Amino acid sequence: MIILIEKRAIDSALVASQNIHPKEFISLFTGSFDKETETYTLEDLIIAPLSQSDFHSSSFNPYLLPVAMETIATFHSHPSGVPIPSLQDLAFFAKNQPIHLIAGFPYVHQTTKAYDRNGKEIEIKIIKNKTLQKNQLEI
Ligand SMILES: [Zn+2]
Repeated sequence: MIILIEKRAIDSALVASQNIHPKEFISLFTGSFDKETETYTLEDLIIAPLSQSDFHSSSFNPYLLPVAMETIATFHSHPSGVPIPSLQDLAFFAKNQPIHLIAGFPYVHQTTKAYDRNGKEIEIKIIKNKTLQKNQLEI
């Protein structure tokens, strides 16, 4: 099993984490799962309406997410710098989306880890933006 994530999407989440630090940042990703290759592809960052965060936790109300939007992963930051799920995180993982990302301070690719519902780490591969919009500049 592997996770492909678009650079643009993960970088948006990491910049948001830096901006809100030392509070936690929480968000979601839309994407798809290919059964044959057991590959999750995360495409777009979604910020849930009325997301809340403080210094030790963050939350969102799943009922406020657009129904048509298929979110397959959650993302949250760990201002402590350690991207390992807490017991509370593991309880949350088990009941929610199939994939969960945690980014530890200083919020770079190397401190970003992904886990499945059981808290088992899954390899992440960052891919080049494949869905560039018109008028968007590729860096
Ligand atoms: Zn956490």
